[in-house]
Amino acid sequence: MKIRHGCAALVVLCLVLVVTPAQNPKVVAIKTARVLDVRTGQMLNNAVVLIEGERIAAIGSTVTIPSGAEVIDLSTMTVLPGLIDSHTHLTFAPGVGGPAMLGQSPSRQALIGAKNARITLMAGFTTVRNVGARGYSDIALRDAINAGDVPGPRIIASGPTLSITGGHADENFLPWEFRYQAEGVADGVESVMQKTRETIKYGADVIKFCATGGVLSLGDDPRHSAFTFEEMKTIVAEAHRLGRKVAAHAHGGEGLRLAVLAGVDSIEHGTYIDDEGIKLMKEKRTYLVPTVYLTDWFLENYEKLGLPPQIIAKAKEVMPAMKKNLTHAIQQGVPVAFGTDSAVYPHGLNAREFAVLVRMGLTPLQAIQTATVNASKLLGWDDRIGAVEAGKFADLIAVGGDPTKDVTLLERIKFVMKGGVVVKK
Ligand SMILES: [Zn+2]
Repeated sequence: MKIRHGCAALVVLCLVLVVTPAQNPKVVAIKTARVLDVRTGQMLNNAVVLIEGERIAAIGSTVTIPSGAEVIDLSTMTVLPGLIDSHTHLTFAPGVGGPAMLGQSPSRQALIGAKNARITLMAGFTTVRNVGARGYSDIALRDAINAGDVPGPRIIASGPTLSITGGHADENFLPWEFRYQAEGVADGVESVMQKTRETIKYGADVIKFCATGGVLSLGDDPRHSAFTFEEMKTIVAEAHRLGRKVAAHAHGGEGLRLAVLAGVDSIEHGTYIDDEGIKLMKEKRTYLVPTVYLTDWFLENYEKLGLPPQIIAKAKEVMPAMKKNLTHAIQQGVPVAFGTDSAVYPHGLNAREFAVLVRMGLTPLQAIQTATVNASKLLGWDDRIGAVEAGKFADLIAVGGDPTKDVTLLERIKFVMKGGVVVKK
């Protein structure tokens, strides 16, 4: 009997499998007050966005809604493409930097990442580039989201950050007798080549390396360069040859210049960027990912984080310089892609970066472009995300007014859709 039931179940399963592909993809029509064309800043009034399956099929004020389509009424709202954050650390959280990190397993961090991925998606960020995680926890998180196991943004993940021994992405908190090396550490041309290949082998979509020291780490200085030029060229050449882009953590000076000359796709932070760095980045069209709001949050909240005093002293010295130099770079026209370094401050506050970018000299539209058209280009995904256009993924958000007049509306997202599925309404 059991076997017969099994056979019956198999027949039903086969029928389902046969029938399913013949069904048409779900059709959804969103009625909106306005859709923002993020390329031009033009508003398309009283528009319909027609979605078939996970992609946008048509958009316009004369689009007819097919019978049987599910209609979503956003007729008081402005629709924009889902936002892109080019610099997150979903598997980390504030206050777990420094020595506390060593007591947390990568499995635990993957689950922390699951929580933060949901929060980030609800904040309107439908894609992130996650640049730095431990134990490939970001790769596990990306795969779980792609499999539909947990909600979250699309993730381009780097795996471990490549670093010199004792550099920003090594672990420098323990004395020698407890020696431990972070998994992205490599020294010398051959070793960085092997490390780049290894990181890709275990799932990295992008390579992140530290071209200078950093702030929230011990024993390194953000003004010192880290890898040699030969090492940087090797990482970039190997990553590019294997179809991966490269993000370089660089605060300034020689490390920043060498990374740009080595051909990286983006410079992260750029705290001490000078006129020479600005000139080089403009010439080579290297994106700057300024992560600025974190300075406001950190200087207000560092006392609650339990960080070592040396790190706090370093942050207090470095952070005020950041806004001044980055404002200059932005006003000189360096290409900018939006990034936050969320994890230094709580995930979900990512959109607070927009108002800071506007205070630094961008128009609200330009600030929105950093998190849409520009970031999609940096990620190499401008064929699928970054604008509300037919053929692109139906990754959409809606706000209650005109974000080209008040960019802080992006801190209060009313509606989020990812791949045609409503995740917040
Ligand atoms: Zn970072």
